[in-house]
Amino acid sequence: MGVIDRRVNTAVEAWLAWLPKWEPAAYRARSRICRRCTGSPVLVASGIPDATPHQVKHALVSRVQRIVDRLVDDYTQENLPMLHAELTGADLWRVGGYDPAAGLDPEFDGLDPDPEPVADDQPFLFTMAGLAEESRPDPPLPRPPLSAAEKDQLRREIQLADLRAADVGNEVCFALMGHRPRISAAIDRFVEPQVRAMLDELSRQLEPPA
Ligand SMILES: [Zn+2]
Repeated sequence: MGVIDRRVNTAVEAWLAWLPKWEPAAYRARSRICRRCTGSPVLVASGIPDATPHQVKHALVSRVQRIVDRLVDDYTQENLPMLHAELTGADLWRVGGYDPAAGLDPEFDGLDPDPEPVADDQPFLFTMAGLAEESRPDPPLPRPPLSAAEKDQLRREIQLADLRAADVGNEVCFALMGHRPRISAAIDRFVEPQVRAMLDELSRQLEPPA
């Protein structure tokens, strides 16, 4: 088994272990479009049906996407010195800000850090996302401009990183497709019945009183 097959297998195992604990109570419809899941080839490769709650999809997409990110990071660190320097410089700036979702397991990725204010509740005076916005550092300090040759090299390295990401992404998706039967069986078993029960309950509540 190659390194990608092994990592994808581990990611799917972790997701399968988490899935039985998933509850619709933790599931809220998401109004914003998720940048990670929308149009994700990982999602397509997983074979997860569209109608599956976002949190369930997102947990798997995030775990698998991390494999791609890690492999591309490793490649960048080893082979693309300028791009690596750019990215680590950018990271230095990012850590100055407050990220409410930082350090959470991928299962939490699908949850908004801020719950929607409930109708009778006091509206939140400020939101975690707002706080993150405020504590984000100002644009980076000016640094010496890149020379034309440096810009060219950076451009080349970005292309190479993109190529590497596409290659690794393809391999990861291909490996993931081998797990489709397990993934779909787990959704049928742990997610579908809960979603159906929730919808039944909802339609009961919406029925006009006799
Ligand atoms: Zn998502």
